[in-house]
Amino acid sequence: MSRVDVDPLPRHRPLIIIVSGPGGVGKGTIVDALVARDPELLLSRSWTTRDQRPGERDDAYVFVSRDEFLHRRDADGFLEWTEFLGNFYGSPQPDPSSPLDLVLEIEVDGARQVKSRFPDSILIFVLPPSRDEQRRRLVGRGDPDDKVQARLRKAEEEEPVGRALADHVVVNDDLERTVGEMLEIIRSRRNSEPRG
Ligand code: ADP
Ligand code: 5GP
Repeated sequence: MSRVDVDPLPRHRPLIIIVSGPGGVGKGTIVDALVARDPELLLSRSWTTRDQRPGERDDAYVFVSRDEFLHRRDADGFLEWTEFLGNFYGSPQPDPSSPLDLVLEIEVDGARQVKSRFPDSILIFVLPPSRDEQRRRLVGRGDPDDKVQARLRKAEEEEPVGRALADHVVVNDDLERTVGEMLEIIRSRRNSEPRG
């Protein structure tokens, strides 16, 4: 009897998962938990021209000058980029050979760009339980007062746009529940994707 080698089912092509929402809602905390819990997820590391916050991890972003950012942008080095509250932010073009599903933690203008280029991407828009709780989180994170005010004002603009673009809207009240809900959204899409 001859032995037939059967290849495991090929993985679906990598998904793009966009996590968007206003500042201080908990996006960074959520995406860290997602990649820690799901080894098939890769977190994109953005470039920014903003200064590193006191206490912020060195690998939170690639911190660059405006010239460095514009140079990469002009070489088509970003999947998307935008200007947000006076600074540039951009997601580097992903490695096309990676089989992992890519997580982008970005604001709504970038989310709109990615969604229009990749309609199959999953856009999860995260909302705070209330504006007061969002303020508490921004203050608790150590944002200076003017930055807290600017992010709260910006949230009023972003939320209607994000809700309209989103495939899923998730309220980040209890972190554990939010992360579980998002992992389930991702698993459910993987299971519905054609293989190969
Ligand atoms: P964003 O990336 O959206 O700006 P962060 O991830 O930096 O937000 O979170 C802002 C603050 O809120 C952090 O101090 C974080 O620990 C806290 N936080 C995140 N999610 C929750 C939650 N579900 N409940 C309470 N605090 C939270
Ligand atoms: P922060 O300065 O608070 O780290 O980020 C400000 C906003 O920029 C947040 O909404 C964050 O999600 C978003 N952001 C971070 N990286 C990128 C990126 O690469 N592209 C876009 N469009 N937004 C980003």
